[in-house]
Amino acid sequence: MKLYNTLTKRKEDFVPLEEGKVKMYVCGPTVYNFIHIGNARPMIVFDTVRRYFEYKGYDVNYVSNFTDVDDKIIKKANEEGVSSDEISKRYIAECKKDMEGMNVKPATTHPLATEEIGGMIEMIRVLVEKGYAYEKNGTVYFRTRRFQDYGKLSHKNLDDLRSGERSLLVTGEDEKEDPLDFVLWKPKKEGEPSWESPWSDGRPGWHIECSEMSKKYLGEQIDIHAGGEDLVFPHHENEIAQSEAANGKEFAKYWMHNAFLNIDNRKMSKSLGNFRTVREISEQYDLQILRFFMLSAHYRSPLNFSADLMEASKNGLERIVNAADSLKFLMGNAKTEEMTEEEKTAYAKTEEYVKAFEDAMEDDFNTADAVAAVFDLVKYSNTTANEDSSKEFLQKLLERLVTLMDVLGLTVDRKEEMLDEEIEKLIEERQAARKAKDFARADAIRDELLEKGIILKDTREGVQWKRA
Ligand code: AMP
Ligand code: ZN
Repeated sequence: MKLYNTLTKRKEDFVPLEEGKVKMYVCGPTVYNFIHIGNARPMIVFDTVRRYFEYKGYDVNYVSNFTDVDDKIIKKANEEGVSSDEISKRYIAECKKDMEGMNVKPATTHPLATEEIGGMIEMIRVLVEKGYAYEKNGTVYFRTRRFQDYGKLSHKNLDDLRSGERSLLVTGEDEKEDPLDFVLWKPKKEGEPSWESPWSDGRPGWHIECSEMSKKYLGEQIDIHAGGEDLVFPHHENEIAQSEAANGKEFAKYWMHNAFLNIDNRKMSKSLGNFRTVREISEQYDLQILRFFMLSAHYRSPLNFSADLMEASKNGLERIVNAADSLKFLMGNAKTEEMTEEEKTAYAKTEEYVKAFEDAMEDDFNTADAVAAVFDLVKYSNTTANEDSSKEFLQKLLERLVTLMDVLGLTVDRKEEMLDEEIEKLIEERQAARKAKDFARADAIRDELLEKGIILKDTREGVQWKRA
């Protein structure tokens, strides 16, 4: 399995630290609002990475934090006149609802920054003790130049960084030894949440939280650390500096970063007013469609969100779900149980699509090509399965489709189970009406279903239905 490592700028073979296990950490959202569709991209992409590892038999320990102490949360709390805690708890709950809608599995652990302050203080203490950090007026800074490898992830040169950050010297932060130094701990301001520490009553900087939570839940060394590409610098660069300075070991072996999601070919931002939350999308579409849309591109390619592309994703997913529906329907009416020799050969041919799917995933998780392999399987199923197929053959085809879709975190089951039942009930009623020669009623039912996008087909085996 190959994956692109930001650290080495190359695709590398994945070799786990411990055989059969994957330890991965994915930086989670800051919770001061509903998550937007940009935030959904790393969630979906890295959940799919996790699912593929699991499909390959790895035991995955997946940790993703919620940043629940931050300036933006405090600002929102002040605006609403409630506590920061109330804001973060509310949006964590909302985020989990969106994740469920997108079929993003809950992490093995979802740590909260506010519950891990003690560990962060301890890590900062070690950094101070080792000479990698220093305190000035209650603030603790990381001594960036002291860490020899600084810049290795973002491939930045310290002197270039220094000239870029020179302006800091004139903005009142001149208590720092060096403009490159960054905050590990800061004293509280009036009305802010705070914790006691050896340096001041205050709160941790953002970067230290991931270094600490990754260490606590996964250990000092992990296989994969991931997030959106905007996190490479400074967040992940600073995490490496903190963790490697404190632990004296290489922090993460592989660093994976997803490219950005744009909207109508523009950067999504509050100032442009083109910000879309996952919740808004869910009012219009099943969130599975959003997931399918995200996976239609490679995770390292920028992706553009537009109404047209969402419609195309909706149709694409529908094609797959229809194929599964058709297999289920045929199974219910199959005349024979076991596969014939001919069917065994036909089924063996589907190995090709599984191989194409796996080859795509093994090549740095190329989900676009993996989706193409699923479409090939669907096409094969549509042309091979028919009323004369055995139940076993149909079932195996369906299982194959379901397995690959599950790796992508997509289900072929229609969400509206109730609706299916309603349809079936109406079809039964229509059959009864026909039997009683009440053709007007039978036709009325057919029209009613058609209005809801359900097309009926009378076959020798009974009534088949599908969604338009
Ligand atoms: P934040 O809450 O801003 O820390 O973001 C949480 C995660 O979402 C991080 O991994 C970000 O890199 C990622 N992210 C934010 N905006 C976008 C976007 N427009 N496209 C892709 N990923 C994003
Ligand atoms: Zn992080």
